[in-house]
Amino acid sequence: MSTVPDRPPLLQMALRVEHDIFVVRQRGREVAAAVGLEHQDQVRVATALSEVARDLLGMVGGADVTFHLDETPDGRRHLRVDLLPVRPLPSGRYEPQSGAVARLVDSLGTIGVGRDTVVRMSRRVPVTAQALTPERLAELRTELGQSTPGSALDELAAQNQQLIATLDEVREQRDELAVLNEELQETNRGVLALYGQLSEELEETNRGVVALYAELDEKSAQLRAASESKSRFLANVSHELRAPVTAIIGLGRLLADSASDPLTREQAQQVELIRSSAADLLTLVNELLDLAKAESGRIEVNWSEVDLRPIFGQLRGTLRALAAGRPVELEVEEPPSATLRTDEVLLGQVLRNLLHNGLKFTERGEVRLRAHLRDDRWVLTVTDTGPGIAPELHDRIFEEFYQVPGVTRAGGTGLGLPYARRLTTLLGGTLELTSEPGRGSTFTVTLPVGGA
Ligand code: ADP
Repeated sequence: MSTVPDRPPLLQMALRVEHDIFVVRQRGREVAAAVGLEHQDQVRVATALSEVARDLLGMVGGADVTFHLDETPDGRRHLRVDLLPVRPLPSGRYEPQSGAVARLVDSLGTIGVGRDTVVRMSRRVPVTAQALTPERLAELRTELGQSTPGSALDELAAQNQQLIATLDEVREQRDELAVLNEELQETNRGVLALYGQLSEELEETNRGVVALYAELDEKSAQLRAASESKSRFLANVSHELRAPVTAIIGLGRLLADSASDPLTREQAQQVELIRSSAADLLTLVNELLDLAKAESGRIEVNWSEVDLRPIFGQLRGTLRALAAGRPVELEVEEPPSATLRTDEVLLGQVLRNLLHNGLKFTERGEVRLRAHLRDDRWVLTVTDTGPGIAPELHDRIFEEFYQVPGVTRAGGTGLGLPYARRLTTLLGGTLELTSEPGRGSTFTVTLPVGGA
């Protein structure tokens, strides 16, 4: 008999003859059902048990079989079946004839209990099974003890029933699996199709983007070429125009000269008209040439340490004449004596341009040039008391050929400010405007002390 020292077994029985195998199987299923194993598990335990019983009967002539319900401290329960062989096992070990038997239960093997070697199998009872109180266990023991085992034929019938049920279940599972497989294949096909479609779309988009970039590159190149040819055209045309226009001015001067044949009053007036028109044309040509040069980057900046005082002095001297005879004062303030790293010719042109505009557009009041240092920058301002410029035109007057409508008294080309801004940029600075109609204008040139 088993010497396992624990609660009394749920049931014990002897395995001695062939018929006992059926009984062991039958009782095994009954006990499994009684402790709460599910139907499938009951069949598994019963099948494993009958296989082991058959082996042991053949090997050693039988065993004493005991059924136990173990409970671990954390509340998990196991159905345990111990089979104590009536004679020692030949090798001291037991291996089931069919390897599949071990898979029917959670564990199957031999263990030493005292001096005996016991074949032990166990199967976990689901937590959902009804709790087994000591009273219920005692009841179970009595019930199991009283039930009489059926005949081999009964057991065969029961086994058949189980087999049929199991087969049904297997078939059902196979059908379900087939359906699932079909669905999976369907999904796979869908995923593949989607993937194909997405890759195609992606490729399409990619091709579009590449084409777009190519077009963009092409357009940029065209734009660059157009801008270059515009500058080249302006430069060439201006250059070609300069000689004949200068000749016209010279000839006009000759015709008007007192040493030449005298002209009638009418003729003298017309010659003067030709001369002044030609002089305007020459200014335009020269300015166009300058701007084209600045735009094509052909102006070289001659950097040096520059003292502003002589530049201011020269501007004062040359531009004063423009205010003569008008109620306008040109005020060129004495600049600080510090130097500035820049190109004095280009800076002179910028300031002359701004002062010239101021004097041109200011009817009365003053035009003032002032310079001061702010942090590491020079700030040069040209302020006038002229008509002022509406804020919405502040950008436009820096565009080529733009002139504020209605302020045409003084003539001009509309090229002075864009040129001045270009030069200031070349010098590493900025040219900004603050102005309001009726309040005069201030053009501010800001330059870094150390040059660009
Ligand atoms: P231009 O003086 O030859 O017309 P600019 O490019 O120098 O060309 O100036 C563009 C326009 O900006 C001028 O025609 C004028 O309408 C306006 N403008 C420039 N300077 C002043 C100023 N100091 N006061 C008022 N308007 C100005």
